[in-house]
Amino acid sequence: MKTVLITGASRGIGAAAAQLFANRGYRVAVNYHRSRREAEALAGELGGIAVQADVSDAAQVQKMVDNVLEKFCQLDILVCNAGIAQQKLFGDLTDADWRHMFGVNVDGMFYTIRAVLPHFIHNKAGRIITVSSMWGQVGASCEVAYSASKAAVIGLTRALAKELGPSGITVNCVAPGVIATEMNAHLDASALETLREETPLGAIGTPRDAAESICFLASEAAQFITGQVIAPNGGLVI
Ligand code: NAP
Repeated sequence: MKTVLITGASRGIGAAAAQLFANRGYRVAVNYHRSRREAEALAGELGGIAVQADVSDAAQVQKMVDNVLEKFCQLDILVCNAGIAQQKLFGDLTDADWRHMFGVNVDGMFYTIRAVLPHFIHNKAGRIITVSSMWGQVGASCEVAYSASKAAVIGLTRALAKELGPSGITVNCVAPGVIATEMNAHLDASALETLREETPLGAIGTPRDAAESICFLASEAAQFITGQVIAPNGGLVI
């Protein structure tokens, strides 16, 4: 049975991915930061485990990965999904805003990948799936810190794919468009309607839409794909 660790899986896209992986026969480790109740309920329902860590804290991440390896004795897939967003004018961003964004969205990925890598290299196998955003591809006004952090995720993915290919490890990225999760709870109905109208496929994405791309990249069907960005975005960014 293949095993997967998903960061930020207490809700939204991460939870939908956990659900899909479990439905397809994977053992799932559900990482959370604050939403313990939700993560434990989901892990219980899926027959997996819930593992706490703030991904921006290297020591907590190492402890989490050690814990997963101890419980599962193996790890085949890592999904780096945990992320935060913030809307602010560039001129209003504080040092703390910037550091927090990069701490979770970029450092978090670095720490998590670094912690699982010795295991993947030892096995000469492994799948790493990073979660960026369409704003990491084209940039968003009033979301410069978020866009820059998500562009960094794409750069990390491409470079690491080249470095890890010879070790039998693939590294790919999912860059979703607008997905209906708590991350977009600040958008009112008219803003969502405008985004829907601007989307060629005429819909706001569901967490499942993004989760399907994640699961595809972890599947046998994607064995010859590495360093790529898949964009479940309804055509909003082409
Ligand atoms: P969400 O509903 O806000 O969920 C965010 C998840 O990340 C939660 O499980 C949260 O866990 C976790 N998280 C936040 N900070 C964390 C930390 N420091 N350490 C560990 N976990 C942390 O967001 P979502 O929409 O599902 O987003 C998931 C990913 O997709 C993010 O990387 C986001 O940037 C990306 N994305 C989303 C959209 C969209 O439209 N929704 C579009 C493009 C890309 P706790 O609740 O336990 O803190």
